[in-house]
Amino acid sequence: MKQRDYNFGAGPAMLPSPVLEQINAELFDWRATGVSVMEIGHRTVQFQELLSNLLIKLKNLLNIPANYQLVLTTGGAQGQFDAIPQNLCGIKRQVDYFISGTWSKKAALAAKKYADVNLVTEAGAHSIPDPRSWQLNPDAAYAYYCPNETVAGIAFPDIPNVGKVPLIADLTSSIASGPLDYSQFGIAFASAQKNLGIAGVTLVIIRDDLLDQALASTPLVWNYKLMAEEKSSINTPPTFAIYVMDLMVDWMIAAGGISALGAINQHKVEKLYQYIDNSGGAYINDILPSYRSQLNVPFNLANNNMLTQFLSEASAGGLRYLKGHISVGGARASLYNSMPESGVDKLIAFMQDFAARNFRK
Ligand code: PMP
Repeated sequence: MKQRDYNFGAGPAMLPSPVLEQINAELFDWRATGVSVMEIGHRTVQFQELLSNLLIKLKNLLNIPANYQLVLTTGGAQGQFDAIPQNLCGIKRQVDYFISGTWSKKAALAAKKYADVNLVTEAGAHSIPDPRSWQLNPDAAYAYYCPNETVAGIAFPDIPNVGKVPLIADLTSSIASGPLDYSQFGIAFASAQKNLGIAGVTLVIIRDDLLDQALASTPLVWNYKLMAEEKSSINTPPTFAIYVMDLMVDWMIAAGGISALGAINQHKVEKLYQYIDNSGGAYINDILPSYRSQLNVPFNLANNNMLTQFLSEASAGGLRYLKGHISVGGARASLYNSMPESGVDKLIAFMQDFAARNFRK
């Protein structure tokens, strides 16, 4: 198969070619059922088997402890911005939020409908304040954070220590990108369209003791306890997105698992930051190195008036969707698992060439 263009978009993101090839090969007749996976009932033996095996494989792949339930929902990660307080504020109303960018800010805003939100700390443009300044509430129902902020590219260097309060993590742009100690979390969640397949399904990982604290008004399809009991099939689950997640999980296993992928990811992102930092100001990322995202690399050009030209030349050369988020401008390269090292090499070569032609005359 010819090398496809490299898709640096933040999400929906690039899928590995073998995954697309398999979808293509079995689209009209899935597992000898005579129909496509999109047309088969979600309560058939075949689909229920796919679903239950997928959750077992995911739990092993991500090394999630036994006392956690995995649930697949709809409504995206933003659905969880409401579902988290709905599921956890049945007993206590006080909650802690770390705001480190666009997504955690939105999550805190959503929680205000159900809870008293305490701001633990707020990140600036270049870093996250020192833990000694954090205002944590030891009686909070939970503490919420987003380890990797996709838009501005700010990341927590470590999992925050919130004592005995259950820690909630929005892993939408960082799940499965490297080893992670899930026992540190009360709940972790991620919508699938970056590192777990396509849009339409969201994975929620819930510690057993947090399953039964929901507000009575919580929608059935977002009630974690019911969803876990009903094996994520209270209503019709997003079958095609779940099928693609299963293919992604098999692809990640074949690629050597999370440690192997994590090592490659680290190598890819270090190369890009190193090039940017040594570009003599041709490209700039001014986030302090220990707070830099390891998945989403935003950068500005020495002359941002040249951004349109930069993006259109990149795109013509097969380096697609490098435009930064509209709220921060500039460029952004997202380097999830599916982005091969060859894509990063090609991007750096292009950036070098573009800088030589435009910035160093
Ligand atoms: N959280 C993070 C960290 C994200 O990157 C995104 C989407 N880019 C979201 C939440 C929102 O996800 P969704 O569109 O699935 O609601």
